[in-house]
Amino acid sequence: MVVEEWNEDITLTYDTQTSQALPLFEINSDTSRKPQVSYHFNEKVSNYHYGVRHPMKPFRLMLTDHLVTSYGMNDKMDIYRPRPATETEIGAFHDDEYINFLKSVTPHNYKQFAASFAKFNIGDDCPIFDGLFDYSLIYAGASLDASRKLINGQSDIAINWSGGLHHAKKFEASGFCYVNDIVLAILNLLRYYPRVLYIDIDIHHGDGVQEAFYATDRVFTLSFHKYNGEYFPGTGNFDEIGVDRGKNFSLNVPLRDGIDDDSYIRLFKCVIESTLTCYRPEAIVLQCGADSLGGDRLGCFNLNIRAHGECVSIVKSYGLPLICVGGGGYTPRNVSRLWCYETSVCLDLTLDTKLPTSIPFLKFFGPDYSLHPNLGGKLDNKNTKKYLESIKIQVMERLRFLNGAPSVQLSEIPPDLSGFTLDGDEEMEDYRQDRFMDKKDDTMSGQDESRQGEMVD
Ligand SMILES: [Zn+2]
Repeated sequence: MVVEEWNEDITLTYDTQTSQALPLFEINSDTSRKPQVSYHFNEKVSNYHYGVRHPMKPFRLMLTDHLVTSYGMNDKMDIYRPRPATETEIGAFHDDEYINFLKSVTPHNYKQFAASFAKFNIGDDCPIFDGLFDYSLIYAGASLDASRKLINGQSDIAINWSGGLHHAKKFEASGFCYVNDIVLAILNLLRYYPRVLYIDIDIHHGDGVQEAFYATDRVFTLSFHKYNGEYFPGTGNFDEIGVDRGKNFSLNVPLRDGIDDDSYIRLFKCVIESTLTCYRPEAIVLQCGADSLGGDRLGCFNLNIRAHGECVSIVKSYGLPLICVGGGGYTPRNVSRLWCYETSVCLDLTLDTKLPTSIPFLKFFGPDYSLHPNLGGKLDNKNTKKYLESIKIQVMERLRFLNGAPSVQLSEIPPDLSGFTLDGDEEMEDYRQDRFMDKKDDTMSGQDESRQGEMVD
């Protein structure tokens, strides 16, 4: 009937233009100054494939971007489509011979490079795939762009979900990472900021970043991760504290399986508070690896998306220039939910829990179609109260050694940072050797059982 077509309910229900224009978030009402947030994403990064059976799926970045855009958050921040990093830029950290190798090797000519695979740690975890070098330059370029926007004051919080590849080393690939965008971004920040704090909440130890800055007091590396001596990458115990000028400027928080939201947040808040007080950084880089969520294909924690995001909120609350990068995360639907949610945390927005129905690939998010599926409680929490208390005490004990922040003056920042990561230092060399030996031992004993059988391409 004609009249029914004009019924108010029906008009409202079926007016798709109106429903599309409705905001899917609320702007949080606190009156403090909102940070300027920038989002650095070159969509080409999501087109690369490590291989069908490899757990690292760059398309999770496209899913994340779809969610961010569908919620309309792109209107609330500066959007940049950064250029890839140049070879010279990644040469600020990586060795020339390694860069040349990455640049030259392809799935078609790999046989002629096979003799170098062991040297550069190429294998099941870090395979040779089509466009590998371009992929690395793209995600690294986005982190460098984020660092530039922080330095020139255009951003207070700069986000690059395609970055966070924290295992890559100066001379070799590791743990799905080829180029260490975090180290490159921090090196850039060090041109301007006297002290940079690096925080890592990926389930794996942030070994590549720790190693790069192991001998300096200008970067404090702090990593929360699962540790039992065998779980990848096998490092990250309490006794790794730094060497030379960097002694006591590396802090590790080794955790057991199944940690839950409350224990994690409580510990994180306490450690961050003390670290900020003792070190007084001028800028922070936060690696938000999503494999610490419950239900991750390679992870074994019980964290929910809100708890992981609470860590971002805690770090943000200090109001320091901040770069947020991604990292691990092997259940793509949850990775994208998490990084979408954490974008909203940076923007001070409250998102509708129900996912926007306009998102492409909506089927990925069923049957709940929620931003906050229950991811907790799947594993026993092996972190007893007593264990967590002992961790807290050890952390406080370590931070006492800092005796206040090092007094690095602006004028002391070297104009040229090449050779900054002191590879000639003897202690550093010992550390590398130890790590190398550990790694070989781990390989012999079949480290990280959860990965077995998944890597063969
Ligand atoms: Zn990880």
